[in-house]
Amino acid sequence: MRDLKLVCQKESGFSLAELGSRNNFVLIAGPCSVESQEQLLITARSVKEAGADFLRGGAYKPRTSPYSFQGLGKTGLEYLREASRETGLPVITEVLDPRDVETVSNYADILQIGTRNMQNFPLLIEAGRSQKPVLLKRGLSATLHEWLAAAEYILQTGNQKLLLCERGIRTIESYTRNTLDLSAVAALKELTAYPIIVDPSHATGRWNLVEPMSLAAVMAGCDGLMLEVHPNPQQALSDGEQQLSPTHFAQIARQVFKAVAFRQSLANN
Ligand code: PEP
Ligand code: MN
Repeated sequence: MRDLKLVCQKESGFSLAELGSRNNFVLIAGPCSVESQEQLLITARSVKEAGADFLRGGAYKPRTSPYSFQGLGKTGLEYLREASRETGLPVITEVLDPRDVETVSNYADILQIGTRNMQNFPLLIEAGRSQKPVLLKRGLSATLHEWLAAAEYILQTGNQKLLLCERGIRTIESYTRNTLDLSAVAALKELTAYPIIVDPSHATGRWNLVEPMSLAAVMAGCDGLMLEVHPNPQQALSDGEQQLSPTHFAQIARQVFKAVAFRQSLANN
């Protein structure tokens, strides 16, 4: 890691307090894709009620197949802004293309770079230049070194508002969609001073594994979680198998807040 000058500097870094989070832990929730104004508003109200700090939702979707739902684009961004106005939740959404960074920055509070774009260097530089906080997801098959080197491209622009998101990696296991690498969370806590967010929804691909992996991620030391929630997961236009119902999300949020408090009590002893 010696050539990584910026991301491994412990005295730099970026704190969640700057994002306005309470208790230095951030809960991000919302649908995989923004599908309609109603779907987003129902989700936004319910996750806010359950204690979420940020609303997520994809307007530009990086789909494996070009025949799958590609997202609502700018209309989706407008729905996100509207849901944010109504609930007071700030918004995080993915930007896929360097040419869209300016537009997405006009609507989003945090820019998300997805796993498929972790090494899209022109996109990382453009996102960095926006001066918005940037959440960089780990590439599907990226080592920690490659992930942190990608993060350097953002930091090199002078933008320190970086969040790193572990969202599972490709392994020999196929029962789960990916393999959640919790050792990466503990390792990054040693290597960097930037917040580490865990996304158990994409890591497992199975809604019933999201609760145990969320709690495990808290105990591994993450600074926040990103969970997918849909009013009717079976009807979702993307990632239906991993999205939580609002009721289930509320149950998990309660458990997560208890785990964060427990972790805090261990640290105080
Ligand atoms: C997402 O969070 O919407 C997403 C597409 O995730 P990932 O880039 O981790 O696959
Ligand atoms: Mn998804």
